[in-house]
Amino acid sequence: MAETTPRQLDVLIVGAGFAGLYLLHRMRAVGLSAHVYEGASGVGGTWFWNRYPGARCDVESMQYSFGWDEDLQQGWKWSERFAGQAEILQYANHIADRYDLRRGITFNTRIAAADFNEATGSWTARTEQGEAIAARYVVMATGCLSTARIPDFPGLKDFKGRTFHTGWWPHEPIDFTGRRVAVVGTGSSAIQSIPVIAEQAAHLTVFQRTPNFSIPTRNGPMDDEYEHWWKDGYAQKRVDARRTRTGILNRQSPQKAMETAPEERLDVYETRWKSGGTSFMGSFADLITSQEANDSAADFVRAKIRQVVNDPKVAELLCPTNHPIGTKRICVDSHYFETYNRPNVTLVDVKNAPITHLTETGLAWGDGAFAEFDDIVFATGFDAMTGTLTRVDIKGRGGETLKDKWEGGPQTYLGLMTAGFPNLFMITGPGSPSVLSNMIVSIEQHVDWITDCLVAMKSRGMATIETTPDAEAAWVAHGNVVAHKTLYPQANSWYMGANIPGKPRVFMPYIGGVDVYRDKCDEVAAQGYEGFRISQPAKVAQAAE
Ligand code: FAD
Ligand code: NAP
Repeated sequence: MAETTPRQLDVLIVGAGFAGLYLLHRMRAVGLSAHVYEGASGVGGTWFWNRYPGARCDVESMQYSFGWDEDLQQGWKWSERFAGQAEILQYANHIADRYDLRRGITFNTRIAAADFNEATGSWTARTEQGEAIAARYVVMATGCLSTARIPDFPGLKDFKGRTFHTGWWPHEPIDFTGRRVAVVGTGSSAIQSIPVIAEQAAHLTVFQRTPNFSIPTRNGPMDDEYEHWWKDGYAQKRVDARRTRTGILNRQSPQKAMETAPEERLDVYETRWKSGGTSFMGSFADLITSQEANDSAADFVRAKIRQVVNDPKVAELLCPTNHPIGTKRICVDSHYFETYNRPNVTLVDVKNAPITHLTETGLAWGDGAFAEFDDIVFATGFDAMTGTLTRVDIKGRGGETLKDKWEGGPQTYLGLMTAGFPNLFMITGPGSPSVLSNMIVSIEQHVDWITDCLVAMKSRGMATIETTPDAEAAWVAHGNVVAHKTLYPQANSWYMGANIPGKPRVFMPYIGGVDVYRDKCDEVAAQGYEGFRISQPAKVAQAAE
């Protein structure tokens, strides 16, 4: 079959979540030809795929939204303090329409491969359908949590009932009324969906391997006064948020827990618990660095679980004891622990009695235990941070694949590029604050940095940019040092790759803080892209000879 001429682009963008949408908008504004390829049939990424009951953001909507257009942020009205999935998806669609982005996106089309051509200093990508696309730059706006995963349980295909994964939820409403439902997993997705499913199901059985810390969201309709407070001086508040560790203005206390009198400490936790949400972790400055401080917060939450859950045995099972609080993504919920007081909900501990297999009618665990179900919901998470990137057959210099290069764990400089793969950028890649932050803030920062970089490349007549192996090695080493100053590596979390059998145990996001990281990126650019090698077109051709 004759090859069709590849589409020629300055920038190929992969993914039409918030990252891909904003990047396309910026590329157009600076006059670079760009096009987005997206596997889904619509925009929104995470919020397109994760339609499970109860899905909502854990960063308040006034902050989990774009801050780069004053008219947009003043005009958009969120209906709740923490918006639900449908409203966030509506917002993503609004962005696509308002900035006329859809004509620059090809939907239902996954990028399967991308090869770097050393002679031309550019990339040829290929879609799953076989279309070739030639682009000087490729930007992977493919998301950190976009490859959902169901454990390889024997008998999975034999089960005759309905199965779901929270990250691939169907578009039509799913009714659990009168049904026997199993939920596997107790991470954020499960904790949000369990209370809603329990209200419908005849009986809900939750299979828990590791209990999680969860804080009530105290969600409710958006308070007018609160909205006005945000919108009055919104631009400055966004600037202030970018100067925090997490990209969230959340009243981070500078005080240390163990330097605070015990009664006062409890008062602080109680106040944060009552106001709800992830800002609980901002109660004290040392919660992720001091074991003693962390224990005081963890004890407080465990006491709350014991207060809420009527059956003491169930309460004990729900109390997390094997990781410091906050070292797995802290969950937020609406009536999660209370749900275990319902007569139609059963908690099954599969820590010591793991799920063994599925049959045509149900699920088996431990030493011969079995229950029949009509529906099984897998809330079993994602091959996070690297899984989506390494599933694309990306070949850099000398034909080296990204998958091979990252076999021992991801290596990047600033989470933006990886050595040996010139002109290939990642948005919120491993080695950047990404999933430890308000991701919208981190997405904006990466998109803006990459845009400035590409404009500088164009104005200086440069053809390729790539990180040097030395800069990359130093950044990876720095990332490890910073991570190991905290309690994070103690947890078997997806941050560490621990949820995927055989995945290397490396702490993947950068924990030094959004503020520190932004300064570092700005300084690198100001120093003429320190740590990057930049070549002119002639040099690219020479290097290939
Ligand atoms: P995504 O939204 O993941 O979009 C990536 C897109 O790339 C997807 O549409 C995917 O289909 C596409 N894609 C991937 N590979 C390919 C390919 N090879 N070819 C073509 N297309 C491809 N973060 C927060 O800060 N606060 C929150 O409250 C929050 N809540 C979350 C709730 C859930 C349920 C989940 C799963 C994540 C949540 N996150 C949250 C993280 C969330 O992923 C980010 O906030 C943000 O939406 C990521 O946007 P993105 O554009 O970078 O990636
Ligand atoms: P997750 O945190 O990885 O949770 C997966 C759950 O499945 C865990 O409880 C895990 O147990 C369990 N599991 C996996 N394999 C299992 C097996 N073989 N047997 C039994 N249990 C098994 O995934 P997630 O809940 O989808 O959340 C992922 C991330 O997405 C979150 O951390 C967060 O960043 C984001 N998110 C945010 C929100 C929000 O509040 N806005 C909502 C959803 C998701 P173990 O812990 O023992 O591995």
